[in-house]
Order: sequence, then C-alpha cells, then structure tokens
Amino acid sequence: AKSAGRNRFNFFTRELQLQAQNRQWLTSALYEALRTEQFSVVYQPIVELATSTCHKAEALVRWHHPSRGNISPAEFIGVAESCGLIVPLGQWVFSQAALEVQRIRGALDRRFQISVNKSPVQFNDVDKTHIPWSQHLEHLGLPCDSIIAEITEGLLLEDKPIVATRLKEFQQTGVQVALDDFGTGFSSLAYLQKYDIDYLKIDQVFIRNLSPGSKELALCEAIVVMAHKLNLKVIAEGVETQEQRDLLFSAGCDFAQGYFFARPMSGEALHSYLATQPAM
Ligand code: C2E
Ligand code: CA
Ligand code: CA
Ligand code: CA
Repeated sequence: AKSAGRNRFNFFTRELQLQAQNRQWLTSALYEALRTEQFSVVYQPIVELATSTCHKAEALVRWHHPSRGNISPAEFIGVAESCGLIVPLGQWVFSQAALEVQRIRGALDRRFQISVNKSPVQFNDVDKTHIPWSQHLEHLGLPCDSIIAEITEGLLLEDKPIVATRLKEFQQTGVQVALDDFGTGFSSLAYLQKYDIDYLKIDQVFIRNLSPGSKELALCEAIVVMAHKLNLKVIAEGVETQEQRDLLFSAGCDFAQGYFFARPMSGEALHSYLATQPAM
C-alpha cells in the first residue's frame, strides 16, 4: 500500500512536471506565433430566432502551429493570459474583426456586428499606449455599434476601477457589451444593474441538456424573463439541434449560435454565407 501511494505521488509529480513543461513550451511558441502570424480568426454566425436571419457573428481565434498543427483556444488562451500575451493577441483579433465588419457593412449588411472576446487581463492594461476600441473603429469610419465586446462574469466580480472606466467608455461610445458564459460563474445579478450590459449569452451547459420539462429549460426561461425586464437581449450558445432551437425560441430567447446553424468559418466563407441569406 505504501509503495502504491508513492507510485501515485510520483505519478502526480510527473504529471505536474509535464504540465509545467507544456505551459513553458506554449509560452515561447505563442511569442513566436504572434511574430510569424500563425494565428487566424474565424467567425461563427449568430442567428436571430424570430426571423432566422444573421446580422452578427462571433470572432474566434485559431492557432495553426507549423509542426504541432491546430492548437485549441481552450489550451492556449489561459497560457496567453498568464504571460500577458493575450493583450497584443486580443488586440490583433479585434483589429481583424474590425476589418471584416467593415467589408461586410460595405458590401452586404449595414447593420452587421461582430462580437470579440475581451479577456479580463486586457482590462488591466492601464498604460498610456491603450487605444480604445472606439478610436480604432472611428479610424476605419465605422460606427462603434459594429463591435460587441464579450466579457465574463469574473471580470465584473473583480470590481476594479479600471474595469468600470473601460465599461463606461464602451457605454458612452456605443460599443455594445455581452456577458459571456452567463450562469456558470458566480451570480453576477447585482452587476447587471451596475454596468451597462446589452446581451446575456447563456452558456452551453444549459443548452446541452435542454428538453421539455427539464430544469435547464426552466432556467433558460427565467433568464430570458429577467433579461427582458432589464432591457437585455439573450443569445444562446452551443445550439446543436432543431429541438434546442425550438425550445429556446418558445422560451423567448432572441438569438442563438451553434453547430445547428453554422460552424465557425473563415471571413471569406462568412461573406458567402451572408450573401445567400434572405434579404431583410
Ligand atoms: P466561448 O467564447 O464560449 O466560445 C464558444 C465556443 O464554443 C467556441 O469554441 C466555439 O467554436 C464553440 N461552439 C460553437 N458552437 C458550438 C456547438 O454547437 N457545440 C459545441 N460543443 N461547441 C460550440 P472555441 O473556438 O474552441 O473557443 C473556446 C474558448 O476560447 C472561447 O469560448 C473563448 O473563451 C476562448 N477564445 C476563443 N477566441 C478567443 C479570443 O480571440 N480571445 C479570447 N480572450 N478568448 C478567446
Ligand atoms: Ca465568447
Ligand atoms: Ca450599451
Ligand atoms: Ca461562451
């Protein structure tokens, strides 16, 4: 029993060692990736349930490493956050998304919006070189409501002055704000009245087990009622089936995103996807 315990101990230290090594490898590979443009951005359509039309998409970063192949954001975003690289990377994703929305607004849909994930770490960026998203959008001749900033509940719980300042900037300039992964973190209900939030994104975990009479459905319905009373729109994430779509629509949910509608795709593919949409 003693030696089994020691083996387990050795196993765990080896696991931790491997994890640390992997993080170290990822950190230096990330610097190289940013320098040599190994990243790209894909866009996942967000569909308005009442009309089945698409006027929004979420920007998601992709990393293709020359020898390791595709590395998932789930694996590297956390590492990019801990080494601070998420600041230039996030800014790069934003600028790509801004160019994409400029193309789409110019050619297809004047109301189109792209939502961009903004990590809490990007809000700690207090230095003088900070260029507000609104300023960047003005340079491109775009109204600020072309972009939606996706933030997480954790950010609001930090309750830092810089966060309040940046969110105020968004509110004043008209950059919209979506609360991502809603319902998975700590309850942030108090923060819904404190900050100007435009959308709640219901997390995939509630959608996955959605069925008639389920607790998940009751939660979705309650979230929609609450959101609408507070003048927020609701976006459901990870919608994979017709049944989920129908239940969400009946629950009054405004928008949905997921494989049932479309997978994340290149900017070019998004352009074709939108060109085949029914005109509104
Ligand atoms: P997220 O913001 O919650 O993004 C949604 C994730 O769900 C994406 O994974 C998307 O590809 C996936 N997804 C979409 N529809 C479905 C579906 O129907 N079923 C299932 N099972 N999954 C679906 P992805 O692209 O791997 O990104 C994972 C996470 O990495 C994102 O979660 C986000 O937190 C982070 N991330 C991705 N791009 C960025 C970025 O540019 N900046 C920051 N800060 N984080 C990012
Ligand atoms: Ca998101
Ligand atoms: Ca707003
Ligand atoms: Ca999410």
